[in-house]
Amino acid sequence: MDYLTRIGQETRYPNTMNFAGRGIGERLVHHSIIDFVGNTPLVKLNQIPQEHQLACEIYVKCEYMNPGGSIKDRIAQSMIADAMSKGLVHHDTEFVEPTSGNTGIGIAFACTQNGHKSVIVTTEKNSDEKVNTLRLLGAKVIQTKNSDEEMAVAERIRDSDPKKYIMLNQFANRVNPQTHYDTTAKEIMSALPGVDMLVAGVGTGGTVSGTAHRLKEQFPDCLIVSPEPDGSTMILHNRKPHPFLVEGIGGSKPDPVFDESIVDHAEVITDKESFLMARNMSKKEGILCGGSSGCAMMAAIKAAKKYNFGVGKKIVVILPDSIRNYMNKFVNDQWMEAHLFLDPPKHTMSWWNLP
Ligand code: PMP
Repeated sequence: MDYLTRIGQETRYPNTMNFAGRGIGERLVHHSIIDFVGNTPLVKLNQIPQEHQLACEIYVKCEYMNPGGSIKDRIAQSMIADAMSKGLVHHDTEFVEPTSGNTGIGIAFACTQNGHKSVIVTTEKNSDEKVNTLRLLGAKVIQTKNSDEEMAVAERIRDSDPKKYIMLNQFANRVNPQTHYDTTAKEIMSALPGVDMLVAGVGTGGTVSGTAHRLKEQFPDCLIVSPEPDGSTMILHNRKPHPFLVEGIGGSKPDPVFDESIVDHAEVITDKESFLMARNMSKKEGILCGGSSGCAMMAAIKAAKKYNFGVGKKIVVILPDSIRNYMNKFVNDQWMEAHLFLDPPKHTMSWWNLP
């Protein structure tokens, strides 16, 4: 008996579809991993809405399944393609970019295919996992004390040799929101007959601005919700600023690509809420997403309650990156306990208390 018959292949895959959704026997060869940027899965949650007594449908857009690990693969690709089409990229061009890490990874990832080099400027707050990934992909990494310095340092490098360095500048580059208008939103619209609420965090604001503009054209009543990390004043300008740990979203002031007017409602979410929700997404749904995803999910749940979303209402939450970036942060129980986000275990199983 061959292996597949032995493990009961017919019962496990009754519709003869394999895990990639293609028919068995259909052998597709891709010529570059870059082909897999975008077209990410939209997945219905089956546990968490019920856990929060919600009858509405919550769908998550799994951007962490992009091959470089985040939603930023999309804009890295399109901003580089745009610069190339304008004749700005020469064979010895180096990309220099200020980023919380994921755009840098997207650029360095794209550079593995086109042979260019990159210099990535990021703050010390951002995880070692992102920095190590950047270095592995061949990027030079410069770490600054705070995020306000990121841009200044990147500009200084670019201005030191404008013929050699290009700054794609995700914060002001209109290709950033345009990419989400053209791809992320379109994918959501082709998957669902209607969307009543879109939830997305704001870093540059490119994701929410581009996706929301397109969704509102099709579904004018779609409510646009963003989480505001507690300590950030990006959307709710009058709040008291203080440091926070969630990465990739929030900040002191909006950037040019962020169309503030598109956000109908903001929910303040704490670090603890974000990380506990991100962990719960892994545990309960098998959705291995990062901290900003947990933050967005928490905002979705609070907004769904506030706006009385019931049976039939559809919410889409964007999940920008994965647990991979945070293995030594919120994924780690001891890190959670040290930050008082989790109580230490009452009983540790050891040789003296084995059952
Ligand atoms: N989450 C994470 C983890 C990110 O890295 C980013 C981008 N900084 C965002 C959310 C926000 O995306 P955007 O820049 O499109 O607002």
